[in-house]
Amino acid sequence: MTRDRWLSHADERLRGAGLRTSAGRTAVVELLARDGDCLLSAQELVDRLRAQPGAGSTATVYRTLETLHELGLVRRFDGGEGIARYEIADPSGEHHHHLVDADTGEVVAFEDAELERAIHRIGERLGVRLTGHDVILRGRRAS
Ligand SMILES: [Zn+2]
Repeated sequence: MTRDRWLSHADERLRGAGLRTSAGRTAVVELLARDGDCLLSAQELVDRLRAQPGAGSTATVYRTLETLHELGLVRRFDGGEGIARYEIADPSGEHHHHLVDADTGEVVAFEDAELERAIHRIGERLGVRLTGHDVILRGRRAS
């Protein structure tokens, strides 16, 4: 996904939701468009924004992430460390999943078409139109 595409999509959704533009939120959205294709915690966003003049408060970052999540613009991911991580969501639905290394906490992204087809089939079997799914694998490197 191109970041510009996400940025204009996010802009559209936020305006469509009737939200007034705020400098603090814009800074978060622009940072996500730039860095948000890997998993970032709210604190990491706060730290990266701190360098920018006029960037919003920590509360603004948390509130913005909440809003973006409600609008389906970011995906939230809990890797089991007790903190949520975020990444931008492709409007096309194209996405990847994550493997968390149980020893180091390192996160690896992967895509798997066969997994997606299997999930789709399960939805059909259960008689539902799936609106989303989360898959997190955890494991230890074979040594
Ligand atoms: Zn999937």
